[in-house]
Amino acid sequence: MAELQSVERALAALLDGVAALPAEPLCVERAAGRVLAEPVVARLDVPPADNSAMDGYALRATDAGRTLPISQRIVAGRATEPLAPGTCARIFTGGEIPDGADCVVMQEVVNVAGDSAMLPADIPAGDNVRRRGRDVSVGQPLLAAGTRLEAAALGLLAGQGITRVAVRRRPRVALLSTGDELIEPGEPLAPGQIYNSNRPMLVRLLERFGAEVVMAVHVADDPATTREQLQAAAERADVVVSTGGVSVGEEDHVKQALEALGRLDLWRLAMRPGKPLALGRLAGKDTQMVRFVGLPGNPVSSFVGAWLYLRPLIGALLGCPRLNELPRLVARAAFSTRTQARRHYMRVSLEFTTHGIVARAFADQNSAVLTSCAAADALAVIPAHSVVNEGDAIECRWLVDD
Ligand code: AMP
Ligand code: MG
Repeated sequence: MAELQSVERALAALLDGVAALPAEPLCVERAAGRVLAEPVVARLDVPPADNSAMDGYALRATDAGRTLPISQRIVAGRATEPLAPGTCARIFTGGEIPDGADCVVMQEVVNVAGDSAMLPADIPAGDNVRRRGRDVSVGQPLLAAGTRLEAAALGLLAGQGITRVAVRRRPRVALLSTGDELIEPGEPLAPGQIYNSNRPMLVRLLERFGAEVVMAVHVADDPATTREQLQAAAERADVVVSTGGVSVGEEDHVKQALEALGRLDLWRLAMRPGKPLALGRLAGKDTQMVRFVGLPGNPVSSFVGAWLYLRPLIGALLGCPRLNELPRLVARAAFSTRTQARRHYMRVSLEFTTHGIVARAFADQNSAVLTSCAAADALAVIPAHSVVNEGDAIECRWLVDD
């Protein structure tokens, strides 16, 4: 039987030669969550002109300490007149600083009588002025290629008046749920059957990672059907994911089908859960090779496998480096455990305290217990052949919502 492969080796084999998908133009209004295919360079200064950071009075700093006539009223959104010498202007936050003025005094420290304002002394030039280009200046790199367009990035694009961007096409994923025992929610449960938990779980994870699930089918435990469905999936998708049927039982047909249609790169990993995970390639449309990830059927193995392998794979297809690796953090174990030949990815919840982070392990870490994933914030990575005592520092991979 093949030797167990390390998680790192498996990941390297999976990502080897994966190139980012082509770019497509998209209007910014629909681009939330998408990944930029090209860098964006600023074409406008933000703010476009000096403006006031306060409600108050704009003046020349050299006129401070005097009573000045109020010669104009400046509200945000209007063009201004130059400031007449020896006067000040009533101004509101965001109003443009008129030519000739160089500072703003907040209204709380100004005494107003009729049309004149008594201004305090010693106001430095530039006080309460937001300079043109302080946030963004023309020509500045604004967003790098590979940036996921989240709230602040969308705000920056809008600030530039940009309405279209080039984003990566979303990776198309075909999802195959193997197992004669599986039925879908909504159907009555007959003896021997179970509901398909993996499908909605993986659809959600894949969409969160940035993929589009273009096909989700149920595959019977039969060699011919498995081959047919795998072939159909490879023709429609950039990535084919299956669950179940990759173990050593007689009803496990996925590996043989993969070997018949493409290539098995790696099988059996030194991790728990998820040992019988299989990685390979299938011939897709136009002879392009489609990545294949065969997750074990146990829902916990599928869940962990998706975070460890599908997330970086989708990230590579999107050209989005932040998806390459789950963020690492160090926590104190609120449990004790020991491992044997396989690295253990334990499902833990995290408590962020003023003394650091505490990781609590779900009591039952069996790979058939999906409840352990529902409350998990992170995977605690327990190396092979090691002992962890309560209070030990352990490395965790954060199941970050990105
Ligand atoms: P397999 O990898 O096909 O041997 O499946 C391992 C275990 O996971 C079996 O107990 C299956 O019934 C169960 N299983 C497989 N696929 C699913 C699924 N989609 N949802 C829930 N359980 C599953
Ligand atoms: Mg099965």
